[in-house]
Amino acid sequence: MKLTDVINSGRPSLSFEVFPPKSSATYESIESAVEEIACLNPSFMSVTYGAGGGTSEYTTDIAAGIQKRHDIPVLAHLTCVSSTREGVLAQLKKMQEAGIKNVLALRGDIPEGMSPQEDWHYRYASSLINEVRDFGGFCIGGACYPEGHTEAESQQRDIEHLKMKVDAGCQFLTSQMFFDNNIFYNFLYKIKKAGINVPVVAGIMPVTKAAQIKRITALSGTALPPRFKYIVDRFGDNPETMKQAGIAYATEQIVDLYANGVDAVHVYSMNNPSVARIIQSNISEILK
Ligand SMILES: Cc1cc2nc3c(=O)[nH]c(=O)nc-3n(C[C@H](O)[C@H](O)[C@H](O)COP(=O)(O)OP(=O)(O)OC[C@H]3O[C@@H](n4cnc5c(N)ncnc54)[C@H](O)[C@@H]3O)c2cc1C
Repeated sequence: MKLTDVINSGRPSLSFEVFPPKSSATYESIESAVEEIACLNPSFMSVTYGAGGGTSEYTTDIAAGIQKRHDIPVLAHLTCVSSTREGVLAQLKKMQEAGIKNVLALRGDIPEGMSPQEDWHYRYASSLINEVRDFGGFCIGGACYPEGHTEAESQQRDIEHLKMKVDAGCQFLTSQMFFDNNIFYNFLYKIKKAGINVPVVAGIMPVTKAAQIKRITALSGTALPPRFKYIVDRFGDNPETMKQAGIAYATEQIVDLYANGVDAVHVYSMNNPSVARIIQSNISEILK
């Protein structure tokens, strides 16, 4: 199923993100966590590609496995930075043969210590979007950043680049995590004004460990509202209380998004079935 059909259904949707194993040694344990999340029957599941230094070879296998065993649409991520055209075409062929219909076309982070090279075939995600569109047969998504991408000189320039991605053939967007919904509403207003009319899936990260925060803010520059900081200050030292408070905070964000007409919410569930299960159960009546 094409993800645009899920996102545009006019009903609240809840989806989960998982990441593939970094090596064959962890394949089974990750596959079983993914399986537990799939058993919750979310609106769709996304599978990352080489994120956080992970390998990319299992993305299609994990995504195809979900699709085969469950009647759940999947979104396979694909990055292109420093990739050859042959490599990208081979991945697309593998995805096509596995019956995958939805691709999140991303640039990927520029590896540490490396600067963009003249001979890179894909410099930005928009070149990959062109490639996937020309390849044909996929519903194409792209990433967006309610607070601006860390490399962008301004939010306005970032939105101009986002418009290029949409014009290249991106049919929906998934947002970077945010902890203040007003930032997201403000972003929706700005992109609409810039002529971007594709649906935007809101990305929500339940923070269940205080240690996650440092990494999140360093990588994404996401702002932490004082209300959220107080939660971490008060509960961060105890893993159980932090988990409960972090899930409660994410749930409140999700309910507020639905209440304000944002129907598609994607949870960065980080291969954690218990977090996914609790969030889904917290909003089960809304999802009915
Ligand atoms: C929902 C989501 C899922 C993700 N999944 C993964 C994953 O699975 N694997 C992974 O490795 N990473 C993933 N990432 C991280 C992502 O790869 C990084 O944020 C990366 O740095 C940017 O990717 P992009 O596709 O947004 O790039 P782009 O859209 O190319 O943007 C990158 C930067 O270049 C600028 N730019 C774009 N076009 C131009 C232009 N023509 N001229 C000048 N500047 C331009 C933009 O403003 C931005 O600052 C994900 C991010 C999000 C939000």
